[in-house]
Amino acid sequence: MTELLWIRDAQLMTPEPAGRGDVLVAFGRILAVGPGLRPDGLGVATRVLEADGHLLCPGLVDGLVHFGGGGGEGGFETRMPPLAAESALAAGVTTMVGALGTDDVTRSHADLLACARALAARGLSAYVLTGSYQLPPVTLTGSVRRDLALVPEMIGVGEVAIADHRGSQPGAAELARLASDARVGGMLGGKSGKVLVHVGDAAEGLALLRETSSRWPVPIAQWHPTHVNRNPRLFEDGLAFVREGGSIDFTTSTTPDMLAGGEIPAARALALALAAGAPIARLSMSSDGQASLPHFDASGRLLSLEPAPIASLLADVVAAVLQHGVSLSDALAAASTSPAAIWGLRRKGRIAAGLDADLVLLDRNSLALRWTMAGGRIG
Ligand code: ZN
Repeated sequence: MTELLWIRDAQLMTPEPAGRGDVLVAFGRILAVGPGLRPDGLGVATRVLEADGHLLCPGLVDGLVHFGGGGGEGGFETRMPPLAAESALAAGVTTMVGALGTDDVTRSHADLLACARALAARGLSAYVLTGSYQLPPVTLTGSVRRDLALVPEMIGVGEVAIADHRGSQPGAAELARLASDARVGGMLGGKSGKVLVHVGDAAEGLALLRETSSRWPVPIAQWHPTHVNRNPRLFEDGLAFVREGGSIDFTTSTTPDMLAGGEIPAARALALALAAGAPIARLSMSSDGQASLPHFDASGRLLSLEPAPIASLLADVVAAVLQHGVSLSDALAAASTSPAAIWGLRRKGRIAAGLDADLVLLDRNSLALRWTMAGGRIG
């Protein structure tokens, strides 16, 4: 016997402001949204959640989380642990896109899928990218096309590294082949088939993506470059990329050293990009959660490594609003509607009847997280 959840008297952010209203949830889906819903005559067991005028928003969609554990770039003792479901729920994240990263030797897609399914058992939605930093791509089934066509959770490829010493320095032809395989696999499997591109700090920036899309019929929107806020030069390149029809992603997890090295905080990058006229639909933020963040002493000696916090995503949504003047609906969209649309997740990233019941309640004053609902369950 399922229970009907009646979220009463919320300030609805869908993520656009939609006034005061109620939301009914059952079977993991949103049944109805609006003012004055009256479910009490239906004869179904109903649990009331009083929202008390706080902000009901879409659960966050984190477009890059190494939920199987990332890192490992300083030896085996630097491998980061897998993400705990509690960490995502405590951070307001209800949907994640997971990727391998640098280490495709001791990490595998089979393990990543197992982690995704463990997260799903807690109501979370976890998707997986095939491939890794390197080319030719490592896959689960033997090809990118087969992975995307046949494995339900696999929705794209990445992160493939360009402009980075840890990548395999692919040429344009190699990238065109990868993007085309991703596209065809995505078409067959009804997925977005996008390529998440890890962009390092080499001066070439996004040039290789432009070259590939100009020489072959690979749409510019096929790529979704991430870490575009890592320095001002790449950020400007990213804004140009958006003007050319592309989308870009800003990484929220950071360290004091990275900021001192020129990284633009994601919340600030979002504000600057919007002010420069970039459409919110082509801007996203992601945490890069469970990647390894290094801490150095004053002489540059590595002191410690810690997992990048998934909580940095919500922190930057809040910072974008409270510190950088971004509207709450735009800040939320960068971490819900936009990544959901970019990754082709049709039941994610918005509040509307028929969509998945992935919701967060934020304090109307501080924007602090009050609760997270993932798949119709309060975490
Ligand atoms: Zn990366």
